[in-house]
Amino acid sequence: MNSFQYVTAHTPDEAVSLIGKNGRYLAGGIDLLGEMKDYIVSPDVVVNVKGMSQPTELGTILLPTGVTNTANCQIGASVTVAEIAAHEDLKKVLPGLIEAASEIGSPQIRNVATLAGNLLQHSRCWYYRQPDIVCLKRGGDMCHAHEGENKYHSLFTGCACLSPVVSNLSVIFAALDVAIKVKRAGKTETLSIAEFYQEAWKNPQTHNSLNPEDFLLTASIPLKRTRSAYRQVSEKSEFDWAMVSCAAAGNVANGKITNVRVALGAVAPVPYMVEAAHHFLEGKSLTDENASKAADLILKDAKPLAHNGYKVPLAHTLIRRTLLALNP
Ligand SMILES: Cc1cc2nc3c(=O)[nH]c(=O)nc-3n(C[C@H](O)[C@H](O)[C@H](O)COP(=O)(O)OP(=O)(O)OC[C@H]3O[C@@H](n4cnc5c(N)ncnc54)[C@H](O)[C@@H]3O)c2cc1C
Ligand code: SF4
Repeated sequence: MNSFQYVTAHTPDEAVSLIGKNGRYLAGGIDLLGEMKDYIVSPDVVVNVKGMSQPTELGTILLPTGVTNTANCQIGASVTVAEIAAHEDLKKVLPGLIEAASEIGSPQIRNVATLAGNLLQHSRCWYYRQPDIVCLKRGGDMCHAHEGENKYHSLFTGCACLSPVVSNLSVIFAALDVAIKVKRAGKTETLSIAEFYQEAWKNPQTHNSLNPEDFLLTASIPLKRTRSAYRQVSEKSEFDWAMVSCAAAGNVANGKITNVRVALGAVAPVPYMVEAAHHFLEGKSLTDENASKAADLILKDAKPLAHNGYKVPLAHTLIRRTLLALNP
């Protein structure tokens, strides 16, 4: 690891002022310290943002007592994945979020990993993580996964990088229509999950749409969808990322689904959603046949590579199972 300056910020404004031209925010450190130890990134300044006491919303889960159609749950950037997974009241209103958080890594990782760090973790592509290989994402001139080992790579992408987003929270947040509040250029901006990741769809060098100095503050989750579910398949039951994951949310009344959203993870640089599937499902019963037709629509444009063709039937099964799990 290269030497660097270590400073602690007490407020988001202070963090932004300390970051400089080649600085990085440090939350739980699970992703960042791994990258630094492997010489993937070498910041001059590491700004510790874990211990911020102000504003208090950064470390808090705010759930209104009377859940209504217009209510939101707000979770701060520094809240750990373990705190989300263990929250008994969240489990009642957002079961899909609890399922997604509980599947992350291992208990040790969940105890340290934060909401912001999980959403902003960098690519797991093995070429990207290899210090001796400088691929397109790290400023090189080629993507080695195209002709190389692409078992864990994307089925969909808008650019030359084939590395998918693997954050569990990003997938359930996409299905729940979460709004992310960030500090950007002295102002507070709100981004949808699509906006939060859209840069990664078109620019092979990015992992998300944030500028290096942008600071993530909170995630605001609308509670208007009463049913949510998350399913994933990994090679190992612990300490592993999903090969494919799926989240769905909506309302189910009299056997019919409305306001439905389905998102796939680990298949594209963004949580992957297809509007045509939402339109198809609107007002329909959640039968295996309808869930299967929605899966066909979502996977219609998949472009499997030499080694990741298994992701298509896997995603199809996961979409069906996740949608059927929305039935009361
Ligand atoms: C073995 C293993 C298995 C794993 N399995 C899974 C899995 O199944 N699913 C999954 O989703 N993840 C998985 N992970 C990834 C893990 O969840 C993330 O590395 C972790 O959530 C990162 O959070 P952190 O708080 O440690 O972030 P850090 O490592 O501290 O930061 C990560 C990034 O976020 C930036 N950052 C942090 N806070 C802010 C902020 N407030 N504003 C702006 N930028 C910020 C940092 O600068 C850095 O770039 C796994 C990790 C390991 C090691
Ligand atoms: S998929 Fe992306 S991260 Fe992996 S080698 Fe290609 S450009 Fe690099």
